Amino acid sequence: MKPSHVFDADLHEPGSAAAEGLCSYHARRGVRDEACQGDAVVSFQDDFGGWQSGCAAALEKLVEKGEIEPLGQGA
Ligand SMILES: [Zn+2]
Repeated sequence: MKPSHVFDADLHEPGSAAAEGLCSYHARRGVRDEACQGDAVVSFQDDFGGWQSGCAAALEKLVEKGEIEPLGQGA
Protein backbone atom coordinates (compact mmCIF):
# COMPACT_ATOMS: atom_id res chain seq x y z
CA MET A 1 0.00 0.00 0.00
CA LYS A 2 1.39 3.37 -1.03
CA PRO A 3 1.48 6.48 1.10
CA SER A 4 -0.96 9.24 0.34
CA HIS A 5 -1.95 12.58 1.73
CA VAL A 6 -4.07 15.59 1.02
CA PHE A 7 -3.18 17.00 -2.39
CA ASP A 8 -0.04 19.13 -2.28
CA ALA A 9 1.03 20.77 -5.55
CA ASP A 10 4.58 21.17 -4.22
CA LEU A 11 5.14 17.40 -4.40
CA HIS A 12 4.60 17.36 -8.12
CA GLU A 13 6.90 18.21 -10.97
CA PRO A 14 6.47 21.87 -11.97
CA GLY A 15 4.54 22.14 -15.22
CA SER A 16 2.86 18.76 -14.88
CA ALA A 17 -0.92 18.34 -14.76
CA ALA A 18 -0.64 17.40 -11.11
CA ALA A 19 1.23 20.60 -10.23
CA GLU A 20 -1.65 22.51 -11.84
CA GLY A 21 -4.08 20.84 -9.45
CA LEU A 22 -5.44 18.38 -12.01
CA CYS A 23 -5.88 14.63 -11.70
CA SER A 24 -2.90 12.77 -13.15
CA TYR A 25 -4.32 9.35 -12.30
CA HIS A 26 -6.86 9.54 -15.08
CA ALA A 27 -4.87 11.82 -17.36
CA ARG A 28 -1.99 9.36 -17.72
CA ARG A 29 -4.27 6.74 -19.25
CA GLY A 30 -4.42 8.85 -22.39
CA VAL A 31 -8.18 8.60 -22.78
CA ARG A 32 -10.83 10.80 -21.28
CA ASP A 33 -12.34 8.97 -18.35
CA GLU A 34 -15.98 9.74 -17.62
CA ALA A 35 -15.38 9.02 -13.96
CA CYS A 36 -12.73 11.73 -13.63
CA GLN A 37 -13.79 14.71 -11.57
CA GLY A 38 -10.85 16.82 -12.72
CA ASP A 39 -9.63 18.49 -9.55
CA ALA A 40 -6.96 16.67 -7.57
CA VAL A 41 -7.80 15.99 -3.93
CA VAL A 42 -5.03 13.51 -3.11
CA SER A 43 -1.30 13.07 -3.75
CA PHE A 44 -0.05 9.49 -3.70
CA GLN A 45 3.15 7.65 -4.48
CA ASP A 46 3.27 5.42 -7.55
CA ASP A 47 5.20 2.18 -8.09
CA PHE A 48 8.30 4.13 -9.07
CA GLY A 49 8.38 6.38 -6.03
CA GLY A 50 7.07 9.37 -7.96
CA TRP A 51 4.04 11.36 -6.94
CA GLN A 52 0.72 11.23 -8.73
CA SER A 53 -2.41 13.22 -8.09
CA GLY A 54 -5.94 11.91 -8.03
CA CYS A 55 -9.44 13.31 -8.09
CA ALA A 56 -12.11 12.13 -5.65
CA ALA A 57 -13.08 9.26 -7.97
CA ALA A 58 -9.46 8.11 -8.25
CA LEU A 59 -9.00 8.29 -4.48
CA GLU A 60 -12.07 6.16 -3.91
CA LYS A 61 -10.99 3.57 -6.47
CA LEU A 62 -7.39 3.35 -5.24
CA VAL A 63 -8.42 2.99 -1.60
CA GLU A 64 -11.02 0.40 -2.56
CA LYS A 65 -8.37 -1.63 -4.40
CA GLY A 66 -6.03 -1.29 -1.43
CA GLU A 67 -3.39 0.49 -3.48
CA ILE A 68 -3.07 3.56 -1.29
CA GLU A 69 -3.79 4.50 2.29
CA PRO A 70 -7.05 6.31 2.99
CA LEU A 71 -6.49 10.01 3.59
CA GLY A 72 -5.78 10.95 7.16
CA GLN A 73 -3.92 7.72 7.96
CA GLY A 74 -0.20 7.01 8.07
CA ALA A 75 2.17 9.97 7.82
ZN1 LIG B 1 -9.49 11.72 -12.12
